[in-house]
Parts: sequence; C-alpha cells; structure tokens
Amino acid sequence: MIPAEIRRDFPLLAEVCYLDSAATSLSPEPVLQAMLEYERHYRANVGRGVHRLSQIASQKYWDAHRKVAAFIGAAEGETVFTRNTTEAITLVAEGLRFRPGDRVVTTLLEHHSNLLPWMRLRDRKGVELSIVPPAPDGTVTPDAVASCIDDHTRLVAITHASNVLGNLLPVREIGRVAREHGALLLVDGAQSVPHLPVSVAELGCDFLCFSGHKMLGPTGTGVLWMREPTLEPLIVGGGSIDRVTDEAYTLTGGYARYEAGTPHIAGGIGLGRAVDYLQGIGMAEVRSHEERLTRRMMEGLRGIAGVTVYGPGPGPGRIGVVSFTVEGLHPHEVAHALSEQEIMVRSGHHCCMPLMNHLGLPEGTVRASLHVYSSGEDVDRLVEALQGVAGGA
Ligand code: PLP
Repeated sequence: MIPAEIRRDFPLLAEVCYLDSAATSLSPEPVLQAMLEYERHYRANVGRGVHRLSQIASQKYWDAHRKVAAFIGAAEGETVFTRNTTEAITLVAEGLRFRPGDRVVTTLLEHHSNLLPWMRLRDRKGVELSIVPPAPDGTVTPDAVASCIDDHTRLVAITHASNVLGNLLPVREIGRVAREHGALLLVDGAQSVPHLPVSVAELGCDFLCFSGHKMLGPTGTGVLWMREPTLEPLIVGGGSIDRVTDEAYTLTGGYARYEAGTPHIAGGIGLGRAVDYLQGIGMAEVRSHEERLTRRMMEGLRGIAGVTVYGPGPGPGRIGVVSFTVEGLHPHEVAHALSEQEIMVRSGHHCCMPLMNHLGLPEGTVRASLHVYSSGEDVDRLVEALQGVAGGA
C-alpha cells in the first residue's frame, strides 16, 4: 500500500484533484529541493571546469544519468538527457542516416511524437512508412506488425502503452519479429517507464524514449537510451568533443556526444532525485497501486448512464489512463465542467488524431490518468462529479 504521507510531498494535491498525470506528473518536494539546492549552493556548468562548484555539479549531473540508467536496467553512460520524449525520438529519426527505400513500421496508436518524425522522413527522404492499425479493441498483435516488416525495414517504432486507450503493447514479441528481419526496435516508453518496472534487457529494444516530466521529474526533461551510440548527433559543439583543430574535430564518447551545449542541469539533477523517489516506493508497488485505482475508476465510470469507457478492462494489460465520452457533451465541455469543481482531466485528441479518426471519435475523449500520488478519494470525486455532469447533459 502507498502510504498517505506521500500525498504531503505534493502540495498542489491539497488544492486540486489532479487526474492529468499522463500529460505531465507533479513533482514531489524532494525533487524541487534537489533543484533548488543546485541553484543555491553549487550552480556551475558541467563537464568543463576544474573549480569546486563545477566538480560538484558535474558529479551530481553524472549521478543523475547513472540513476536513470539503473532505473531501466541499463549500463552507465548509455542514457542521453533530452527535453522530452519528442526530442528523444527525433534524435533517432534524424540520427539513423535513413536512405530512400528504407522502411519504418509503426502503429496508428502512436502519439504524434512517434508519428510525425517518421512522416517527415517519408516526405523528405523517401522512407517508406507502414502504419499498422489496431484491432477494434485497440490491440496490436505481433502478427499484425510482422505482416508489414520486410527486409527493407530499418526500424520498428512502437509505443509501450497507449496514452489514449491505456493498453500495453506486446513490445517484446514485436521486437523478436523485428530482429528476425534485422530491423531495430524503438520503444516509446513515455507512458510505461513512469508507471511500471521497465528493463531494456527484457524489452529487447535498441532505443527507449521517455519523459522525465511524466515520472515526477521537472518539465523540460526526457531521456533517450540507446544500445549502441551509433546515431549521428543532431547538434554538435561545446561539451561534445574530445579534440578540435581548425581542420577537424573528434566527438567524445558516451552520452556527452549527444548533449552539446549547456544542458538543463537542475532538471537533470531533479530527474535523478525523482528516480530515487520512485525507487524508494518501488515500481512494483507503484504499479499495483495504480492498478487498484484504475479498477475502481473504470467500475465507477462504467456505472454512470451516458458514459462510454474505451480501451481494455482493468487488469495487467493496461495502465492507469482511462478515456471516456459522455453522451451529448463535447469532451472539452466535460473537462471544463469538472475543472469548475477543481478536478483536472484532459480532453480532446491527446495528440493522437489519426487514432481518434480511426475510432470514429473526431472530437476526442475525456481522459483521466493516475500516478503514485493519486488516491481512492480522487477517483471517487471524479465519479461523483461525473454523475452530476452526465445527469445534466
Ligand atoms: N509518447 C507518448 C505515448 C505520450 O503520451 C507523450 C506525451 O503525452 C509523448 C510521446 C510526448 O511526450 P513529450 O511531450 O514529453 O515529448
């Protein structure tokens, strides 16, 4: 059980019922303090100074990378800090040196951030793009993906968990199929890494992209993990080189090769602290807490006349992201009515327009999403308020 004291670390929860964690999570006090400590006591640039503050800042920033790598079962030095998942995916899209005729396979469940970079490669570089549609219940089977993979396939780019329907995808099995054809696997872990134990070794992926700001870390933080540092860096410059003459330069090894320029140092340190915080609770515990609340939420929502809930039923096949519509009301009207009662939910297409069109929901859905600090009372408050909103429709 998650102790009630956890909620005290998130002061905003005393003011609002926050059910929009899939968009961005709240940060607990220890994360805020870690960032402030950097600003107040050892603010300096990293990786390029010998003075005391620079040494401390560099060590803490490196520690944050080490913690994040361990969090996903990766080795030190394999994680690159980015601004968000979108940037992490773009680093792969722009860094893999695609050629005309290469194929990328993805799905219609993807967030625009795991679709647009590939569409742009199609439009600019003649890369062939296959977008696998989900079955009516939202599932994407390894067979459906396999039917689109051929020997020209360079990459399969797939989400681990849908940010609309909440379903988990069989990424491991899909990865096996990809490997049989010599293709690489990119997993969009934006909605999985913050909520369940994830190991890159178990996933068998080549790239894992996720957002620090969805896992209790600061906004402006994200991560790219890659098996081999073979990507062409998107930007080069200070901090990313070993040696420069006026004729040539040698890029440095490890993550620094991909983090040219001064990074978001306080953000990286805050993200490291967020990882400590989540590990202090235990990701298995985070997962079972959210599973219990998801069941409570889905059962409550399904009991309201006029409310339709999408995605798979509660259980191990989904995360705590629940999409629904209310008959006779636009999703924004529902979110607005709930906001007036201090309940924060997301509404609209959730950056998944192609999926929404496929589902016949061009106006989108209302989406309530959970995190470790969510409580049964939050869920009950939503269900109760929605009974009123749906009843008045
Ligand atoms: N992928 C998925 C599945 C998401 O849910 C999101 C954000 O909601 C993203 C990618 C993009 O994340 P960010 O906005 O942090 O780049």
